[in-house]
Amino acid sequence: MGLSAVAVTSVQQETSRTPVALPSIVPTPMRVSSSLAAGKASKMPHAKVVIIGSGPAAHTAAIYLSRAELNPVLYEGMLANGTAAGGQLTTTTEVENYPGFPDGVSGPDLMDNMRKQSVRFGTKIIPETISRVDLSKRPFKLWTEYYDGPDNKPAYTADAIILATGANARRLDLPGEEQYWQNGISACAVCDGAVPIFRNRPLYVIGGGDSAAEEAMFLTKYGKHVTVLVRRDKLRASKAMASRLLGNPKVTIKFNSVVVEALGENKPRGLLTNLRIKNVVTGEEEIAEASGLFYAVGHDPATSLVKGQVKLDSDGYIITEPGTSYTTIKGVFAAGDVQDKRYRQAITSAGSGCIAALEAEKFLAESQAEETTTAVPVASNSTIEPVAEVQGTKQKKVGIVHVL
Ligand SMILES: Cc1cc2nc3c(=O)[nH]c(=O)nc-3n(C[C@H](O)[C@H](O)[C@H](O)COP(=O)(O)OP(=O)(O)OC[C@H]3O[C@@H](n4cnc5c(N)ncnc54)[C@H](O)[C@@H]3O)c2cc1C
Repeated sequence: MGLSAVAVTSVQQETSRTPVALPSIVPTPMRVSSSLAAGKASKMPHAKVVIIGSGPAAHTAAIYLSRAELNPVLYEGMLANGTAAGGQLTTTTEVENYPGFPDGVSGPDLMDNMRKQSVRFGTKIIPETISRVDLSKRPFKLWTEYYDGPDNKPAYTADAIILATGANARRLDLPGEEQYWQNGISACAVCDGAVPIFRNRPLYVIGGGDSAAEEAMFLTKYGKHVTVLVRRDKLRASKAMASRLLGNPKVTIKFNSVVVEALGENKPRGLLTNLRIKNVVTGEEEIAEASGLFYAVGHDPATSLVKGQVKLDSDGYIITEPGTSYTTIKGVFAAGDVQDKRYRQAITSAGSGCIAALEAEKFLAESQAEETTTAVPVASNSTIEPVAEVQGTKQKKVGIVHVL
């Protein structure tokens, strides 16, 4: 369970017990400062925390934050990056590895349920795509596709933001790809490899990097044989991964090879049965039997929104402090696939959404404590007490009182 509102209150009360100099003069006026107050003072809608995204990371964060009575606002996107609200799982049928569903659950149903749970505790969901953010100072500003007009006023301001915009698997737009997507073609071996249509069948992986090698090794548990198609004449995978792959008797690597067409049953929800494969050096083509085709050609993290503001790695993923959701901007948190290029699973996304919510909650509680701190005029004859320790940090000024 996340830090509840009660827990937040007790943190504040703890702060108030800290010994501070209490002069007889009533502290007036209060020091009203920066972000929290600025958000309240302005006319535009303001939220303590805005979540951008609508996959498992976003909704888990929303569930935790709304239960903590922080009234989160969640922008779920309107076909943001070509994906429906609800994220990547809306594009799949059965999810068999999300705990709590022994018989599996359809991706859209799982996301529907997460959305309902977010709403149940008071998350305000806005079905729009965030087009622009200004993270240069708090309160942060957000604009939407339909509210990004010439007046330049943001649609929302926020004290904290959770970025959970996901990462989309790259596709190749092959002839037949659309028809057999999720009916033999997949971009996630860990997600789909165990389903019956792939069991003891010939499977193919496209890609020459570490991900392709990992996917192929994983698929050897289920498939009869796995062929890795590499466009170039060598693997990009690390030496260790490459030698594991080359040494596996259930794996064949075909260099200089690409798929030019996916073929299969000609009926609604028909399955993939064959691939037309071309040798890019000789130009020769062959038709190979294939029940599964797995893309391992990279993902595109949805980070154009924050490029140049939040630090990204060389592949465009948001860099977070290891083991946390902290980005390079205080008050901006990242969760889910947009910051995870290794695991990219629904459950790991949900887990990191929980982390982001708890960290945002802590950040807000600490900001609140700072914002309600007031500089007290010190009478000329008053005694100044020693500097007090507050929540592990030294107070820099004497004569400061926390307003409860
Ligand atoms: C076909 C397929 C099958 C899969 N099957 C499984 C499986 O069986 N098990 C498993 O664990 N994982 C599976 N995965 C992986 C899983 O779906 C992802 O790891 C998970 O969905 C990532 O969650 P996320 O919260 O990071 O974001 P996503 O699910 O990627 O959702 C992010 C969403 O945020 C919204 N968004 C993006 N930008 C904006 C913006 N600017 N403004 C507003 N909204 C925005 C969009 O709707 C976007 O799709 C599968 C993935 C695919 C593609």
